Amino acid sequence: MFKKILIANRGEIACRVAETARRLGVQTVAVYSDADAHAKHVRVCDEAVHIGGNAAKDSYLQWQRILEAAKATGAQAVHPGYGFLSENEEFAQACADAGLVFIGPPPSAIAAMGSKSAAKALMEKAGVPLVPGYHGDNNDPAFLAEQAQRIGFPVLIKASAGGGGRGMRKVDKPEDFVAALASCQREAKASFGDDHVLVERYVTEPRHIEIQVFGDTQGQCVYLFERDCSVQRRHQKVLEEAPAPGMSEARRAEMGAAAVAAAKAVGYVGAGTVEFIAEELADGDLRFYFMEMNTRLQVEHPVTEAITGHDLVEWQLRVAAGQPLPAQQHELKIHGHAIEARICAENPDANFLPATGTLSVLRWPAHVGFARHAGAAPAQDPAPVRVDAGVREGDAISPYYDSMIAKLIVWGENRAQALARLDAALRDTHIVGLATNVAFLRRVAASPSFATADLDTALIERERAVLFDAPGLPLPLAAAGVIAQKIASEQALESADPWSKRDGWRIHGTARRRFDLQLGGQHHVATLERLHDGALRLAIGGEQWPLVTRSLGDDRYDVVIGGERHTLTVYLVGERVAVYGAHGSQELQEIDPIAHAGEAAGGAGRLTAPMPGKVIAIHVKPGDQVTAGQALAVMEAMKMEHTISAPRAGVVTELLYAVGDQVAEGGELLRLAE
Ligand code: ADP
Ligand code: ADP
Ligand code: MG
Repeated sequence: MFKKILIANRGEIACRVAETARRLGVQTVAVYSDADAHAKHVRVCDEAVHIGGNAAKDSYLQWQRILEAAKATGAQAVHPGYGFLSENEEFAQACADAGLVFIGPPPSAIAAMGSKSAAKALMEKAGVPLVPGYHGDNNDPAFLAEQAQRIGFPVLIKASAGGGGRGMRKVDKPEDFVAALASCQREAKASFGDDHVLVERYVTEPRHIEIQVFGDTQGQCVYLFERDCSVQRRHQKVLEEAPAPGMSEARRAEMGAAAVAAAKAVGYVGAGTVEFIAEELADGDLRFYFMEMNTRLQVEHPVTEAITGHDLVEWQLRVAAGQPLPAQQHELKIHGHAIEARICAENPDANFLPATGTLSVLRWPAHVGFARHAGAAPAQDPAPVRVDAGVREGDAISPYYDSMIAKLIVWGENRAQALARLDAALRDTHIVGLATNVAFLRRVAASPSFATADLDTALIERERAVLFDAPGLPLPLAAAGVIAQKIASEQALESADPWSKRDGWRIHGTARRRFDLQLGGQHHVATLERLHDGALRLAIGGEQWPLVTRSLGDDRYDVVIGGERHTLTVYLVGERVAVYGAHGSQELQEIDPIAHAGEAAGGAGRLTAPMPGKVIAIHVKPGDQVTAGQALAVMEAMKMEHTISAPRAGVVTELLYAVGDQVAEGGELLRLAE
C-alpha cells in the first residue's frame, strides 16, 4: 500500500478520499487554489500545496504544478477524484512518466472511452447493444441530416467529447436539424475543444441505469450492480439509487455481463461506470442500450457502497497498489436499498440558477462519514444516514467551481424505509445564507412518481406542479417561530441579570407588542398580546390564535398555535430569520419599524415613530445640514435601541421632541427640508 498520495481535487470528493486514506494509514496531500486556501479539504489532509488562482484552468487543471507538488511532498500516487483531470489521458500518462501511480485506469482505456463515438464503435464490436444512431467520422451537415432521417425523429445530437450534461441537442423535426447541429458544435468546440458529434435516436422518457465495474491489474473484472439515476434536470443527476427498482435478477446479470464485457474490451483497471439508457417496451419489459463509459469514480458511488458494504475508494487504492480485487463476483451481494440526494447551491425556481454566498447556517441530520465497514460483505447494516460534505458552516460557495456542496446518502432495509429516512434527513438539513435545492429535493422524493418508483428522465417535468414555486411554512407558523425565538432570547438575558426584567411587558395586565415581518417582498404586521392570565395571543391580518412557546435548546422551539403543536427550528442571521418546520421552511426579515420609519416618511420630509417609545438621544439641531444615512436620533422601544437615520440629504428645520420624551405611535419626531 502507498505511504502517501496526492488528491488532485477539491470539495466533497477530496474530503471523502482523504477519509478512506486516513483509515488505511495512508498520508494525504491536498492541492488548493487561492479561493480554497481555508477549504475543508485542505484541513482534512495531512499536507497541502497551493497550486494557483481561482479558475480551474489556473489551479486544478494545472497538471504540471500538481505533478511538482507530488514530487515535492514525496507522494507516490495521485487520486484525481471526478471532474477536473480524472478523465484526461495525457495527465494519466504524465503521472506514469513522472514515476507516479495514477489512481484510475490506464491512459489507453481513458482514451478509448473518452470519445462517445469511438466508445460506441468499440462496444458495437464487443456485442453490447447501442442506441440506434450514427457515430462515424463523417460530420458533414447534409450527411448527418440524412442520417437523422434514417434514424427517425426525434433525434439527439451529442458532442463526442461532451460530459456533465452539456453539448446535447434534442431535435424534433427535420427542418430544425441544421441549426441545432451548428449550435451543438459551437458549444462542443467552446466547452470541450472538439466539435465532433454523433446522432442517435432520442429515447422518450427513458431510464438511466448504470453499472459499477471494477478491474484489477491481474485481469479480473467484476460488477457491483446497478444504480438508477433517472431523476435528472438538464441531463444532470439529482437523485440516485441502488438497486434500480423493478430490476430482475436475470436482467441484472445480463447487464452486469455487458458492462464487464465493455470494461474488458478496453483493458480496464480500477473503478468505472458503464451507463445505459433503458426503454420500456409495450409489454413492460426493459430494453437497454450502451450510452457511455465514465472512466472514474462517480459522484453517486456511495449508494453502491451502502448496498454492497464495500468502500470503493479503498478498492481503488488497493488496485492501484497492485493488489487483487478485494472480492470476487460471487461474494458480492445486495443488502437493502440506498438513495443519494445531491445538495446544490442553486435556485430550482429560477431554472436551477447556481447560487453563491456564505453558509451562515449549515446543519446536518445525525450521520456518519463514509461507509464504516469496508472489507468483507457487511456484518452489520450501514449507517442510516451518511453525509459527504466539502464545506463547513461559515464557508463560502464561490462562483469558481461546481454548485454541488454535499451529498446526503440514506440506507434502508428496503426502498420504503430508505425513502422515509431520506425525507427525515432532508427535513433536518438546514442551510441558511444562500439558495439551495434542499426543499426541492424533499418534494421530488415525496412526489407520487418517485414514491411509487415510476422513474424516468421526464420525472421532474411530469411532477412540475408539485415541485416548483411551492409555498413554504404558513405565515402564522413562521411568525410564531420568530416570536418563540425572541421570547427565549429575552428570557435568557433576564435570567442572567435579575434587574433587567422587562416589566412593561410582564406586569401590566395586557401588553401588546408588534412585529413587522417581511416575507417574499410583502410586509406583514403580527401583533402579540399578553392577556390578564398571562396567556399569549397572536394576531395577523384579522385572524388570531392562542400561542404557547417554549425553548427546547439547540435553536429548537415547541410551539402550540391555535391548539396545534409544532417543533420549529429558528436561526437568526443578521436581520434574517429562518424558520424550519416539519413540512417546510420560510425565510423572513424582521423589520425594525423605527429604523425604517424615515424610509416610508422620507418623501414627505416627516420622520415619525411607528411604535411607542422614548427618545434617548438627538444628534442634530435645527439648521444642521445632514447627509443620507446620517444618524439623527435614537429611540428606545421594547428595551432595544433604534437609530433613526436621515432617509436623504437635507436640512433639519424642526425638532419636535427632546431627550427623555415619550413618543406615541405615529408621532412626528423631526422635520427635514431639501
Ligand atoms: P454526459 O456525458 O453528459 O453524462 P450522457 O451521454 O451520459 O452524457 O447523457 C446524459 C443524459 O442525457 C442521460 O442520462 C439521459 O438522461 C440523456 N440522454 C442521453 N442519451 C439519450 C438518448 N439517446 N435519448 C434520450 N435521452 C438521452
Ligand atoms: P456522474 O456521472 O459521476 O454523476 P457528472 O456527470 O455529474 O458525474 O460529473 C461529475 C463532475 O464532473 C461534475 O462536477 C461535472 O460538472 C464534471 N464533469 C463531468 N464531465 C465533464 C466534462 N467533460 N467536462 C467538464 N466537467 C465535467
Ligand atoms: Mg453520462
